[in-house]
Amino acid sequence: MDFETYEPVSTLIVPEHKLTKAKYPFIDVHNHQGNMATQNLSTLIQEMEKLNMGVMVNLSGQTGERLKQSLKNVKENYPKRFIVFANIDFKGFGEPDWINKAVQQLEEDVRNGANGLKIFKNLGFSVKDNSGNRVPVDDPRLNAIWEKCAELKIPVLIHTADPKPFWDPMDDKNERWLELSTHPNRKRGSDNPVPFEQLIEEQHRMFKKNRNTSFIAAHFGWYPNDLARLSELLSKMPNVYVEFGAVIAELGRQPRAAKSFFEKFQDRILFGKDSWVPAEYATYFRVLETEDEYFPYHKKYHAFWRMYGLGLDDRILKKVYYKNALRIIPNIDKSMFPID
Ligand SMILES: [Zn+2]
Repeated sequence: MDFETYEPVSTLIVPEHKLTKAKYPFIDVHNHQGNMATQNLSTLIQEMEKLNMGVMVNLSGQTGERLKQSLKNVKENYPKRFIVFANIDFKGFGEPDWINKAVQQLEEDVRNGANGLKIFKNLGFSVKDNSGNRVPVDDPRLNAIWEKCAELKIPVLIHTADPKPFWDPMDDKNERWLELSTHPNRKRGSDNPVPFEQLIEEQHRMFKKNRNTSFIAAHFGWYPNDLARLSELLSKMPNVYVEFGAVIAELGRQPRAAKSFFEKFQDRILFGKDSWVPAEYATYFRVLETEDEYFPYHKKYHAFWRMYGLGLDDRILKKVYYKNALRIIPNIDKSMFPID
């Protein structure tokens, strides 16, 4: 028998609370709907209702005409249930007029109804300037965009880098071995295109240089497995927030440390999920709301370990589920959420 086959059934008998619905209506700040311009939103709404998702933030809004189409679909059908973030088209970056055009486009996208900017991980990994050089996350030629976001009072949700083990040797010591062996294209050489630490440092320098801009670091800034480090970073960067898309298994394996982190940074954490698989939200609700013990995660390649609930109190749950997002992301209808 090999590691992938071994799937023992737990003999532990403890109370179980398998939640299919969040205790409060929530705002998922990290969702991707690539087809919002034409899709039937009623199907989406039905799935959201089942989960108690009040508002979905679609980070894949694109830009220009395509974004306009998505916003039109939302406005005509469910104007209060979806928020759409714009994206930047990096083509031509480095050409003399690129930055002015990009800033103008962003202004237009926001005028058309976008309520935030999403930066994908291609910045840092694969975006190149017109001379063929990699564009670092803190490239000063991008500052005008971050400044514009501050002026427009919209947040920037940014995903930089990937889990550190993707850069490490793929051997019996690598905690993401199963993920890398089932997704071989995620494996990187130790300096491809640069080491993990360098990308993260670029991101942090950019955060610090743009103090007036609100940034949401996706996936707990890839430090969900080192909350002491993340705690230090958040203390130094008051303009930075985090969301836990795709990393709930990291929190569920350290319920005491995670709970005290949520207590300390209760105003800085947002609910995010990333991939749209409605059944998987149950794991998120269970980790956040219950005190269940030794329960499984939904993907073995993210977590071959079992998890424990944080049992967050209602005051903190409400902040994470909706209050923080209502404060940071503009134009969400507050009337859908409990006031107290
Ligand atoms: Zn994402």
